[in-house]
Amino acid sequence: MHVKKGDKVIVLSGKDKGKEGKVLKVFPKDNKVLVEGINIVKKHLRPTQKTPQGGIVPQEAPIYACKVMVICPACAKPTRVGHAFLEDGRKVRVCKKCGEVIDNI
Ligand SMILES: [Zn+2]
Repeated sequence: MHVKKGDKVIVLSGKDKGKEGKVLKVFPKDNKVLVEGINIVKKHLRPTQKTPQGGIVPQEAPIYACKVMVICPACAKPTRVGHAFLEDGRKVRVCKKCGEVIDNI
């Protein structure tokens, strides 16, 4: 996965095309991500004691990770992600545009 929790991403296609948001959760098995404010669906809640008539709550639904692009924190542009190794051998993600390391190290 090129996307990680906490990344800022831009949506490339679909009804939220062009919108930006923060990645709240990643689902590597499904190749999907949950992005703040993106792909809002109305979730119907069952009636509970607190809300006896139930309710409809807007909530984010996961979208395919291939539909988002990481926004580089250094150059603030949507970019493809490359990989590099630190001196201690750790693998990090780098911005293909400016070359800066995207991951917190
Ligand atoms: Zn960059």
